[in-house]
Amino acid sequence: MQSFFYDIAVIGGGASGLAAAIEAKQYGGANCHIAVIEKNSRLGKKILATGNGRCNLGNIEENKSSHYSGSCVDLIEPLFNKFEGSESFFKSLGVICKSDSGRLYPYSNHAASVLDALRFQLNDLNVDVFTDTEVVNLKYKLGLWEISTNSNSDLKKINTKKVIISCGGKAAPMFGTDGNLYKVLKSINNYFTPIRPALCPAYTDPLMIKGLKGIRAIGKVSLYNSENKLICSDTGEVQFTDKTLSGICVFNLAAFAKEKNMYIQFDLLPHLKESEVSELLWEIYAQRSAWSIADMLSGIFQKKMCPALFKSSKISTDLNLPVYKLNPYDIEKLTKTIKAWKFPVLYFGDWTQAQTTSGGLARNEIDENLESKTCPGMYFSGEILDITGECGGYNLAWAWCSGVCAARSAVDSLKKG
Ligand SMILES: Cc1cc2nc3c(=O)[nH]c(=O)nc-3n(C[C@H](O)[C@H](O)[C@H](O)COP(=O)(O)OP(=O)(O)OC[C@H]3O[C@@H](n4cnc5c(N)ncnc54)[C@H](O)[C@@H]3O)c2cc1C
Repeated sequence: MQSFFYDIAVIGGGASGLAAAIEAKQYGGANCHIAVIEKNSRLGKKILATGNGRCNLGNIEENKSSHYSGSCVDLIEPLFNKFEGSESFFKSLGVICKSDSGRLYPYSNHAASVLDALRFQLNDLNVDVFTDTEVVNLKYKLGLWEISTNSNSDLKKINTKKVIISCGGKAAPMFGTDGNLYKVLKSINNYFTPIRPALCPAYTDPLMIKGLKGIRAIGKVSLYNSENKLICSDTGEVQFTDKTLSGICVFNLAAFAKEKNMYIQFDLLPHLKESEVSELLWEIYAQRSAWSIADMLSGIFQKKMCPALFKSSKISTDLNLPVYKLNPYDIEKLTKTIKAWKFPVLYFGDWTQAQTTSGGLARNEIDENLESKTCPGMYFSGEILDITGECGGYNLAWAWCSGVCAARSAVDSLKKG
């Protein structure tokens, strides 16, 4: 068994762990010995998959708490005030960003630019990197953390004065985040709020969306519970598959799906009141009275949506008949469906489909500098904490920001002795 000794060891070589290790060395100085411990054979595997390979690394609104949920949300504004912002952080590593409707991407449009910048900086700073090394236990002994690992080649014990936990959550286990550290962290008295897959599609009754596969429709989606209480809403593009409602606005609802028997209400014309939609349908009725019912709404929605809209409105008519065959009740029912098309949520996607984890280490376990209140010299960053960002670069922004802030806290504490 090999033994190592560090001032700060970072567990997890993902987004927040890499930011933490870089900041710890830069802020701590040459005599501060830092290690990153990563179970995968390479650092930052998940980063390469983000933003469909483009890496949506931040957002111009990343410092606004309204884009996040979870018990740690009050930390967003104070910590982002201490952090220079994702764009400046990457500029200091030689990566230039561009904004696409507020979402920040590397100018190269390649996630590899982001990962390379982080990896090469770690290398330049002489941070020790252990890959293929999985942390399996943590023990506090005589003022040091003893980290037990299960390495491919041999067993290693890593002793460290401070430890930063940047191991991510449970989403997307194919990138190394299978949640094995939750159990270890719970065993040393850390309390976690319940965790659920977040940023993932909603499974609904396949019969309701039959024929809609591949269709994209813009509107407002709202998540309701079984007592018809509105839980949250978002606007954007809904993408239909044969089993799910997908798209960013639907993904954003998943973090709030804490109950059973919920449903999504889709308003296809959110900028119009119900009475205005009714007026619009009567205008179309007059303009297109001789057309077939199947073509009636083709000036507003994709034609393939027509049968599903009529079916959900419970208008049983032959779609080949002319529009003038519809009666006022049909128009009223269609109006209601267009404003509030209801889809039962069977469940949201599983961990393999989720982009992030809702729930995690609870706010009352850490102070405002991300230091544990129960475990001395332990700091947390990234997705392991109970905080979930919306789609749009917020989760990576939180990862860099919390990584940098946790590292500064750990170094400050080292300096104080
Ligand atoms: C497909 C996909 C696309 C995404 N796209 C975006 C996007 O464009 N923009 C955005 O903001 N967010 C995006 N996200 C979310 C974002 O990637 C995460 O929120 C972010 O990476 C979390 O950073 P983290 O450092 O906390 O955890 P991670 O990046 O998950 O890193 C944790 C690391 O710890 C390692 N680890 C875990 N357990 C151990 C252990 N016991 N021992 C050693 N190492 C361990 C893991 O292997 C992993 O490398 C996406 C997620 C996915 C899955």
